[in-house]
Amino acid sequence: MQFTDLKAQYGALKQSIDARIQRVLDHGQYIMGPEVAEMEQALAAYSGARHCVAVASGTEALLIALMALGLKSGDEVITSPFTFAATAETIVLAGGVPVYVDIEPDTCNIDARLIEAAITPRTRAIMPVSLYGQAADMDDINAVAARHGLVVIEDAAQSFGASYRGRRSCNLSTIGCTSFFPSKPLGCYGDGGALFTSDDALAQAAREIRVHGQSGRYHHTRIGVGGRMDTLQCAVVLAKLERFDWELQRRRELGQRYRERLAASGAEAGLLAVRDDRDCVWAQFTVLVDDRATVQKALQAAGVPTAVHYPKPLHHQPAYAAGHDAAAHPCSVRAAQRVLSLPMSADLTEADQDRVVAALVQATRTPAASVAVA
Ligand SMILES: *Cc1c(COP(=O)(O)O)cnc(C)c1O
Repeated sequence: MQFTDLKAQYGALKQSIDARIQRVLDHGQYIMGPEVAEMEQALAAYSGARHCVAVASGTEALLIALMALGLKSGDEVITSPFTFAATAETIVLAGGVPVYVDIEPDTCNIDARLIEAAITPRTRAIMPVSLYGQAADMDDINAVAARHGLVVIEDAAQSFGASYRGRRSCNLSTIGCTSFFPSKPLGCYGDGGALFTSDDALAQAAREIRVHGQSGRYHHTRIGVGGRMDTLQCAVVLAKLERFDWELQRRRELGQRYRERLAASGAEAGLLAVRDDRDCVWAQFTVLVDDRATVQKALQAAGVPTAVHYPKPLHHQPAYAAGHDAAAHPCSVRAAQRVLSLPMSADLTEADQDRVVAALVQATRTPAASVAVA
């Protein structure tokens, strides 16, 4: 059983992926070839945002977004401490200071009610993360931001395709940033990412920053980065779009099936909440367990691969801990101890999913001592 079954996905899309890659090999425009604009147009239309700017990775999308906003040294950006490091890393790289606000224990997304208290005269932006594929309370966050003149950047690396109140992730705030890392809901075959906005000036700034701050060939009007996405990777995304809606549907069905089976099974695993006004595309299907190391070992012995997203909140990470109280953000600290991600992809079979559920029942109901002996 695969944690993310990319081989089965390739098998299903082989003809289109091979043909699209061959087309790039034939025209030879490996940098900024026609597939880049073609993908940008397709994804902008999909998200509902006016502009999509393809960039080298999800991390680069976040960095370019902050640079396009003109973040200044010492500017504060409010974000969740329970996320992948890239979220805070890009804030620091852009000269900013990450300010953490704790998560809701039932969704693991930033708690919008706690944001206002963290705003200071130096706050410039709020960067909520749509963790595991479900958006945070974006309208509440946008409202707080509007009251204080702040910009909201959605870290949508895990949520491309997700819906929130009739809109799509990446088009829920001023800027949305996603990743095409192979295992994300919409992945390529290497690194890739994109930034979405309906603000013409921000889109133009992002396009220039992506190519070393050039507004024209060898005319550098701002500091930029080498942040382009390869033509070949855009070709892969275009091919994957052919069955993306089916994949999302399948992910939602499998997510719902996991929830029903786990709830009925008596497995001692907590389920995350999905709010009524949005959906989750299950970039990760994550549950909450006690004594995670033992459960993970038992699952591994049963042939079920798992992962932990993420084992430490950022304010406990050596590179990000300075100046932060380790006891702060207790919901993030507790989630980091308990989260466990189970196999999930559109090609996960129901038979394999049933094996995961059975193994989890066994692993969480067996006393730790007997698992350790086994
Ligand atoms: C994957 C991910 C990123 C970074 O994306 P890359 O394409 O790997 O650079 C950023 N934030 C979150 C929440 C992610 O899951």
